[in-house]
Amino acid sequence: MNNLEMPVSELNRVGKTTATQLKRIGIKTLKDLLTHYPFRYEDYSQILTIEEFKTQKTGTIKAKVNLIANRRFFRKKMILTEAIVSDKTGSLQIVWFNQGFLTKTIKSGQEIYLAGKIDNANHGLQLINPSYEICANQKPIHTGGLIPIYSSTTRLTQKQIRFLMSQALKINNDIQDWLPMPIKNQHRLINLSLALKQIHFPENQKMLKQAQERLKFNELFLFQLRNQIVRERIKKEKAPSIEFKLKETKRFVKSLPFKLTNGQRKTSWEIINDLKKGNKMNRLLEGDVGSGKTIVAVISCLNVVLNNYQVAYMVPTEILAKQQFQNISDLLKKFKVKIGLLTRTNALIYDPKLQENIKITKPKFLKKISSGEINIIVGTHSLIGPKIKFKNLGLTIVDEQHRFGVKQRHSLTKLQNESKLFAHFLSLTATPIPRSIALTLYGDLDLSIIEKMPPGRKKIITKIVDSGERIDTYQFIKEEIKKGRQAFVICPLIDPSTSLISNYNQTDELGTKSVKEEYEKLSKEIFPDLKIDFIHGKIKNEEKEKIMKDFNSNKTKILISTTVVEVGIDVPNSTIMIIKGAEHFGLAQLYQLRGRIGRGSDQSYCFLFVENEGPKTKKRLEALLKAKNGFELAQKDLELRGPGEIFSTEQSGFLSSLKIAKLTDMELIQKTKSAVQVVMKNYPNLIKKVKKSINMIHLE
Ligand code: ADP
Ligand code: MG
Repeated sequence: MNNLEMPVSELNRVGKTTATQLKRIGIKTLKDLLTHYPFRYEDYSQILTIEEFKTQKTGTIKAKVNLIANRRFFRKKMILTEAIVSDKTGSLQIVWFNQGFLTKTIKSGQEIYLAGKIDNANHGLQLINPSYEICANQKPIHTGGLIPIYSSTTRLTQKQIRFLMSQALKINNDIQDWLPMPIKNQHRLINLSLALKQIHFPENQKMLKQAQERLKFNELFLFQLRNQIVRERIKKEKAPSIEFKLKETKRFVKSLPFKLTNGQRKTSWEIINDLKKGNKMNRLLEGDVGSGKTIVAVISCLNVVLNNYQVAYMVPTEILAKQQFQNISDLLKKFKVKIGLLTRTNALIYDPKLQENIKITKPKFLKKISSGEINIIVGTHSLIGPKIKFKNLGLTIVDEQHRFGVKQRHSLTKLQNESKLFAHFLSLTATPIPRSIALTLYGDLDLSIIEKMPPGRKKIITKIVDSGERIDTYQFIKEEIKKGRQAFVICPLIDPSTSLISNYNQTDELGTKSVKEEYEKLSKEIFPDLKIDFIHGKIKNEEKEKIMKDFNSNKTKILISTTVVEVGIDVPNSTIMIIKGAEHFGLAQLYQLRGRIGRGSDQSYCFLFVENEGPKTKKRLEALLKAKNGFELAQKDLELRGPGEIFSTEQSGFLSSLKIAKLTDMELIQKTKSAVQVVMKNYPNLIKKVKKSINMIHLE
């Protein structure tokens, strides 16, 4: 019998305060508790005599308390608890700071375990702030072994967590192991129940390793199994079979001012072949910023429209929606395709006969979607909703997929479609995840990758600028603007002290550059002769549009912005970017931001202004300077810091299920993958179980 769903509040000694503290670290049930794995261990496994302890310095002793008393230092508001303990080999002085309550729990004459490191103090050897445990009949959990250390809040002690953990393990003494025996045997995995006990209270290093191995296996196995199940289900869904229109596709490609790259050709072909099949396509198109994903998407759109089906093209922001609407209209000018733009505030139709945009009311627009008159509808997630019904949606494209939240992304496939068939699904992302990792991360999707950039792109010259070099940098920018170029200036904040824009700068509000301050400074002091403008997320959409229009047409020379320009904005004449307070951004985000320049044929420059010039900042930013492409940077980031930085919030759904396993652990990924294949073939009952559980299960 297991009680994994039992609330932690039902455990002994969990009152309201403790429950709240536990909740803060994500623990509500025993399952949450048991999967709150230690992040490291103190090795106090040797139980020593005091004499041995004095030479070995680390370990656990079992000794008798001769004396224990508090001393107060009023001026310093400090309490010192001193004790003398002894065994048959000698005695030792113990000191605890600010734990006055100890004189109530530990009494003279008692036998206790003490674990820690000996320090050489002024008055001889001392054991400072050791873990302690009163000797009872049971095995010690705070001393005398590899002692788990958990991430926690300041108000929840390690001792409390260990105490709760040992209760939870007792209640779930015998968890049924769901992993089939032959798989366990093949990969030499220990039982689930044993693994859980050993991860929290390991008997020795060897058992700990085995426990970690088993639990990592669990996570990667279940994640991939779930993906595989979703994948097979989607493959069974019927979608329109899209005939490849060779002639028109050729005509389209010829109309472009450039040749397609090999990557664009290969990925277009993969998509076209997938669309033909009559089963739902579920594909991710991955390509670095500026690799030319739009063209590939438009080739798919064209083929779907020529087969008399509609396309929904979704993007995360209104600015980007407008821009892609314009882009796609331009690209498909010569084809009789009706393209619409629908955002919260805008409803436009591009009329291919008149070759112009016509504003219409929303209700009219919605009618034209449901009648099938509009072929391609570009919009934000405002395309999802009960009022918007497509007549015969054949393809949904989600651009900059990584910018949609987890929940939003889930709803992206739920567009209302009158047709009996499902729409194909194509997702575009610039998060440069190496193929090997993407295959695991997006295991439910097929993958197309544009590996290389279009030719002729110059490498963006990137420089870390310290305070002494700023004047020169501004001078340089003046000259570039004189030559006709434009510049972005990116700031982490809108206002000097309010609303933080990015996820990365929560640690430091003060001193961080804001858009408004920067506007004041640049327009009045540094570039008084130039037209400067600013944009951020809180500006009204109509105004935003005008700002972008002026920048696009080179009326505005410098655009100061928050990270709203991060995604998709394409102004090839803009060749300079200053990023203020660069240390506040994640590497992946800096990379995305920088991707807004270097899009034309002129040499581009990116200047990273740092406020905090420590060596650590420099080292981190230098990774950006060195990386040849986003894939390399992502790989480095994954190795150095794990996936948190790259995926930030948008992937947290996935990441929270990986508590102990790593995406970079290729060996284990291979093993779990092959195990998944075996299970898919031979263990329908296990699959049923996984299907039933909505959440990622680690144990059940
Ligand atoms: P992203 O992959 O970031 O969405 P875009 O599709 O916006 O990239 O393309 C970036 C720029 O590269 C656009 O200005 C586009 O016209 C241009 N481009 C796309 N394909 C090619 C190509 N094969 N050769 C040269 N330029 C290209
Ligand atoms: Mg794009």
